[in-house]
Amino acid sequence: MDYSEPVGWHDARIVPYQPLTIEPSAMAFHYGQSVFEGMKAYHAQNGDIQLFRPDKNLARLNHSNDRLCIPPIDEEFVLKAIKQLVYMDKEWIPKAEGTSLYIRPFIISTEPYLGVAPSHHYKLIVILSPVGAYYKEGINPVKIAVENHYVRAVKGGTGEAKTGGNYASSLKAQEVVGKQGYSQVLWLDGVEKKYIEEVGSMNVFFKINGEVVTPALNGSILSGITRDSVIEMLKYWDIPVSERRISMEELYQAYLDGQLEEAFGTGTAAVISPIGELAWEGKKIHVNEGEIGNVAKRLYDTMSGIQYGKVEDPFGWIVKVKEA
Ligand code: PMP
Repeated sequence: MDYSEPVGWHDARIVPYQPLTIEPSAMAFHYGQSVFEGMKAYHAQNGDIQLFRPDKNLARLNHSNDRLCIPPIDEEFVLKAIKQLVYMDKEWIPKAEGTSLYIRPFIISTEPYLGVAPSHHYKLIVILSPVGAYYKEGINPVKIAVENHYVRAVKGGTGEAKTGGNYASSLKAQEVVGKQGYSQVLWLDGVEKKYIEEVGSMNVFFKINGEVVTPALNGSILSGITRDSVIEMLKYWDIPVSERRISMEELYQAYLDGQLEEAFGTGTAAVISPIGELAWEGKKIHVNEGEIGNVAKRLYDTMSGIQYGKVEDPFGWIVKVKEA
């Protein structure tokens, strides 16, 4: 689908995957006006094709659009188009446990213009790709390094938008810790480097002395859909959960006091990813003896159970994809 002024969004169409023709001076290449989403279509146990809270992805896309001066999309229309596309490609949705069809809607500015300003032309494209199971040999807790030098986002920046630039600025830190044997970076706030924000492509939760804590959304953290679902599920189960500021000092002290019971990341890719070890300023925090915790396991089983139609969905999160 294209955007131009004064027509607005127009010409929605489904075409085979192919190279794009874009001018070298297209603004996206130079000024980074690009936003995207990541969601999945699942093959349910009873043969249904299911999406998980796709309305949330499209609302977040519009939120990102607003921050990047990209004109809003009609969320209902785009959801309908995504459903149609997924249905057309239903043969590509793998059936094995844990597999899915990844859906990547994205918008780029295409106006050929070499000045810094919002573009007047855009393309919204949705591509699909089958993805294998995230956990092939059981859920293994990951090792994460707390980042003390590089910063991913600051308040007032673009951190809470899902825009390419945020990921570009995180690559260097990821490369450095990757060489040291860590799978991802835990980002701290961009001013004091004191408060915990999120992990590379996941939000983060800690269970401290019976309470599940996650950093409150503060303008520089991505508002994860898995994060929101985890909070709702914990409330549904009457497990204490709070969204608040949490510093590395507090986390380390909880660890020393034997009160850090669980740590896990949340995101569309892994659903729930237990954290077994955190490295921070030369110190190591070992969580739950490298095992997945009870709360993380229950969250994983329930959420993936809902996604694959094995567990009842009391929240109304599942959207079925049927013949258009
Ligand atoms: N934070 C960042 C920076 C991410 O890229 C993602 C993945 N979209 C998340 C958090 C988790 O968000 P979600 O649960 O919507 O996948």
